[in-house]
Amino acid sequence: MFSTTRKGNPVLIMGSNRYNLTTGYSGHKLRWACTKKMIGLPVFSTTRYGNPVLILGSNRYNLNPGYRSGPKLRFACTKKMTGCKAIVYTLDNVIVEYKRSHNHR
Ligand SMILES: [Zn+2]
Repeated sequence: MFSTTRKGNPVLIMGSNRYNLTTGYSGHKLRWACTKKMIGLPVFSTTRYGNPVLILGSNRYNLNPGYRSGPKLRFACTKKMTGCKAIVYTLDNVIVEYKRSHNHR
């Protein structure tokens, strides 16, 4: 079933899941991404010291270099020192898991 969001963006609803239209996908086919997976496009950057950093919305995440679980990368919120437990996992520069448990705004 097709619908539109409050902002007028197309959304595909199947069962209890919602999918957003992925813009920028070439070809005639439309590509839909689950709203739970597509939190936003992560921006990969590096710090002044050359360490990888992931920027998602208004939050920044540092790479956990000690984390090893296959090809997935684990990024922890830069406010981790203040007790923030938000974690982002990426695979091929795409967010595959997002624990949005920020203790701050
Ligand atoms: Zn946080």
